[in-house]
Amino acid sequence: MSPRLSPALSPAHAVLQAVFGYERFRGPQQAIVEHVIAGGDALVLMPTGGGKSLCYQVPAIVRQQQGRGVTIVVSPLIALMHDQVGALHEAGVSAAFLNSTLSYDETQDVELRLQTGDITLLYAAPERLNTPRFLGLLDSLYHGGHLSLFAIDEAHCVSQWGHDFRPEYRALTVLHERYAGVPRIALTATADALTRADIVERLQLEGAQHFVSSFDRPNIRYRIEEKKEPLAQLLRFIEREHPDDAGVVYCQSRKRVEEMSAALVDAGLKSLPYHAGLPAEVRQQNQDRFLREEGIVMVATIAFGMGIDKPDVRFVAHVDMPKNIEGYYQETGRAGRDGLNADAWMAYGLQDVVNQRRMIDESPASEEFKQVMRGKLDALLALAEATDCRRVRLLGYFGEYSTPCGNCDNCLNPPAVWDGTDAARKLLSTIYRVQQASGLSFGTGHIMDIVRGKDTEKVKQFGHDKLSTFGVGKDYSEAQLRGVLRQLLATGAVGLQKVMLESGHSFDTLSLTEGSRPVLKGDVPVLLRESTASAPAKRTRRST
Ligand code: ADP
Ligand code: ZN
Repeated sequence: MSPRLSPALSPAHAVLQAVFGYERFRGPQQAIVEHVIAGGDALVLMPTGGGKSLCYQVPAIVRQQQGRGVTIVVSPLIALMHDQVGALHEAGVSAAFLNSTLSYDETQDVELRLQTGDITLLYAAPERLNTPRFLGLLDSLYHGGHLSLFAIDEAHCVSQWGHDFRPEYRALTVLHERYAGVPRIALTATADALTRADIVERLQLEGAQHFVSSFDRPNIRYRIEEKKEPLAQLLRFIEREHPDDAGVVYCQSRKRVEEMSAALVDAGLKSLPYHAGLPAEVRQQNQDRFLREEGIVMVATIAFGMGIDKPDVRFVAHVDMPKNIEGYYQETGRAGRDGLNADAWMAYGLQDVVNQRRMIDESPASEEFKQVMRGKLDALLALAEATDCRRVRLLGYFGEYSTPCGNCDNCLNPPAVWDGTDAARKLLSTIYRVQQASGLSFGTGHIMDIVRGKDTEKVKQFGHDKLSTFGVGKDYSEAQLRGVLRQLLATGAVGLQKVMLESGHSFDTLSLTEGSRPVLKGDVPVLLRESTASAPAKRTRRST
């Protein structure tokens, strides 16, 4: 490449080329960098791999050249700090970090260099920022006019609505108050509207300009199917489509991770488990092997993944449903970081919905928090039940408008749908009548038994075989009714309520909600994907 004569090269552009060796900025980088160099506050939402680091590294260097001193980068990920500082050294930039891995002497050395103005970028863990000692250092830099910029990485950690709340991040509020006039740039790869608003409020970024990149990962093909036999389905998926590829399989619990990983090994795959209950050395060893060797399938809880940069992960599978869309996006986003085709595959079922609801209900959190979590779960369920483009839904959740993608299951094979409105109304009226007749609410199994006209012991015991809705849905299979219920739960037309028994056991019961009425009245149709197992009476091919 021959150097071009560019007399009007901006300082930022010059740094990009001379220090980082890149020809041009990518996407919104240039606008962000210029805004921050000029002293503006910024909130940057950019997907993983989008190039967030340069958004503060370039301003840090330019502002240092302008004599404004050091940039403090707040980051919760120690491994990432090490990588970045290493890379900056290679590029000839003076950078350092302060975290728990440093010895006392090393810490002192960094502090000294900081005072003498020898450091352009200082990475610090959030808990460090809150120590009187470190704040004292910052105070003296500030008063000397040598505190240039704060970069707050992984800014969603400040929000309890985010998926990775870290209380230490709350203390970052002091930056604004204590160091008035020092610009701040907050960055995150994940934030729905609620989390975004929370970041702004918590970090007092009301005056910040927002830079929102597209969150689309066009090379990832999204697929969600009904969970029947998760292991068999997963094996079929891997064997047919990714026989020798590296992938991650996410499970809900540690126990399930162990079982699933063992089952994959039995099936002849190179699989390793990863969860927080394993000894640290085992975790490290498994992670290293996943990164180094080819074709390892890591079966893991969500403890696995943060800060792991393996470009050629060809698939991410969920055999249990994640908590919400942010989690789903974050986890599936670990596939295909090299830009080549990758799959995000998920199997989910009614039990997942029930389990996730229960986890929310049983958590010790406030009612407000639970309400938010239920809303987030519902949004994910709606995505799973969708019969239209998954990507449009996914991006829509992050406030991004798009058109059908042609690279998700629903776009590629528009699902045959059947009209479940009649079945839905029968289920809803049964829930209503049972409640009226006995003043009690019941679980899914019992309600379905009544609708299907099965005179079980329990049905007879409560006299539910006398209800007018007994047997009204006997033409429907259990699978069909289950599918209808799943969708009613997903769309909030049915509520789940936990009932505690005196024995201490509890179970989930179904109840009507505000959303039931339009379905009961027939104003809102209930369209379901036709599952291959059941051949419903009425069917209509979706016309798109
Ligand atoms: P993020 O923090 O958003 O996940 P990174 O800052 O780690 O992303 O950047 C992802 C990759 O893209 C890195 O390898 C980085 O060097 C590269 N990159 C970033 N900006 C540019 C650019 N303007 N030109 C070329 N490569 C870039
Ligand atoms: Zn699509």
